[in-house]
Amino acid sequence: MSDVDPRPAEVECTGLDPDAVPAGPVEVLTSREVPLGGPRAMTVRRTLPQRARTMIGAWCFVDHYGPDDVSVTGGMDVAPHPHTGLQTVSWLFTGEIEHRDSLGKHAMVRPGEVNLMTGGRGICHSEVSTPATTVLHGVQLWVALPEEHRQAPRDFRHHVPEPVRRDGAELRVFLGSLAGEVSPVPTFTPLLGAEIILDPGTELALDVDPAFEHGVLVDTGAATLCGTDLDRAELGFAPAGRDRIEIVAGAEGARILLLGGEPFRERIIMWWNFVARTHEEVAEARAEWEAGSDRFGAVAGYTGEVDRLPAPVLPNARLAPRGNPEPGPQG
Ligand code: MN
Repeated sequence: MSDVDPRPAEVECTGLDPDAVPAGPVEVLTSREVPLGGPRAMTVRRTLPQRARTMIGAWCFVDHYGPDDVSVTGGMDVAPHPHTGLQTVSWLFTGEIEHRDSLGKHAMVRPGEVNLMTGGRGICHSEVSTPATTVLHGVQLWVALPEEHRQAPRDFRHHVPEPVRRDGAELRVFLGSLAGEVSPVPTFTPLLGAEIILDPGTELALDVDPAFEHGVLVDTGAATLCGTDLDRAELGFAPAGRDRIEIVAGAEGARILLLGGEPFRERIIMWWNFVARTHEEVAEARAEWEAGSDRFGAVAGYTGEVDRLPAPVLPNARLAPRGNPEPGPQG
């Protein structure tokens, strides 16, 4: 998916040192609604990045959308657009999305199947919900690449995790490892990504890596994360330092996404669809996309109304750095 804000701001992001303090309290991050553009635009609920927190591990972007009646919203039709310095992780609950990229990959995103695209130095792709889709419901996630891999070549992975039952819950581990399940999809930093469907009232305790910080996005129902209530579309953040997290479903049950990773120690700048380190890098990537540079390649087979998404206007002034808040108890 593309960030379609016509005047996106530059956002500077960073993780924090997990050794500095013991595990702090769970924070609740609420979403803001962002229209995806177009006359019958779909709206997404964005929980990362935001002012209170910009990253969880290397996860730097969390958009949650649907369930959306495609006959009303028109579904998803995102023309070819570039990415650099990041990986896109697509995960659906309902519906189907056709993916085409400049690596030459043509793939379907379907419920329970993870598609991971590595932008590295530069890639472009299109995303269109298929005609058979009546309800679209899922998440679009981005992972920032660390310095030594951010020029990585383009790549695309598809994986269908085997669902497993644990203590009143069904788990699909699409990245990293959890509850004895290990995803074969390689990552450039230690990461965790899993869908968990909890039966009504289920109390699930999961052993986790204490070096990881975690996020729980509630898709349906309500849940508590380590005792803190989370409503639908909220993202609960548990700082690093825990070796176990507890998720309790409400009376309706819950479907959640569990994201985790080691705090990302590099400062990054996110602007539009680019992750970079400096304003100059952003400006260069933007200029190369606008010039049709080989850096991003071309998508074959996309048949929408425009050939490609133009880059927005760069901000005139640099924004003040905006990293994660200082760790520790916060009232
Ligand atoms: Mn995209």
